[in-house]
Amino acid sequence: MRKPVIAGNWKMYKLVADAVATALALKPLVANANHCEVLIAPPFTAIKTVADRLEGSNVRVAGQDCSTESEHGAHTGEVAADMLRDAGASYVIVGHSERRQLYSETDTFVNRKARVGLAAGLTVILCIGETLEQREGGIAERVVSRQLTGGLRDLTASDLDRIIIAYEPIWAIGTGLTATPEQAQEMHAFVRRVFAERHSEPSAGRLRILYGGSVKPDNITGLMKQTDVDGALVGGASLEAETFAQIVNYNR
Ligand code: PEP
Repeated sequence: MRKPVIAGNWKMYKLVADAVATALALKPLVANANHCEVLIAPPFTAIKTVADRLEGSNVRVAGQDCSTESEHGAHTGEVAADMLRDAGASYVIVGHSERRQLYSETDTFVNRKARVGLAAGLTVILCIGETLEQREGGIAERVVSRQLTGGLRDLTASDLDRIIIAYEPIWAIGTGLTATPEQAQEMHAFVRRVFAERHSEPSAGRLRILYGGSVKPDNITGLMKQTDVDGALVGGASLEAETFAQIVNYNR
């Protein structure tokens, strides 16, 4: 059985005080959520304080990104994966579409981040997903397959057990448009098939594939009913504790 993961990506929102207040409000609301892993990804500046305040709870902390470099050195503005771990994170998101689109991150770059994240002992959430033009042009599967293969290049079998995939169609992120549960299922099943072909059936069977793109309390249940949807990566609706808790505590 794959344990679902419900992850909140706070993007570039929240000063430390607000991040702590939201995390502390969330903690009791999801305290009984043993059916899934719950995690939040605050901005870098709030990771340490939030992680300290969540210690002993079932809410884990993720970094939203990390450097491609693992050696500490002259990389102004970068945050190394082991620094995230040191600050209390146990997961890191790599390849988010905003990084790919706004900061020109390539699959090669994302793959390096995945590898340094794993080497630092983090669980890596690798984001993949097509644009609307790519979907309408009939190449969504080709794009997703390329991102998956490129992002996972040179990972060992044991690395793969600390990989989570987030399928996030770009046309659904922050737009209010959500893929239908059937569209999500179709792409998740495709991702699992490609993963099985590249790696192995057993590791594909263990792989958690999250859906992301305007997930809200009123659409999470339909998405989670799909065989290959193993959780959600939630942006906007994770910023408020009550709303995010409703998503975590979806109808099962
Ligand atoms: C995201 O940030 O990964 C995301 C899916 O955002 P939203 O839920 O706001 O669409």
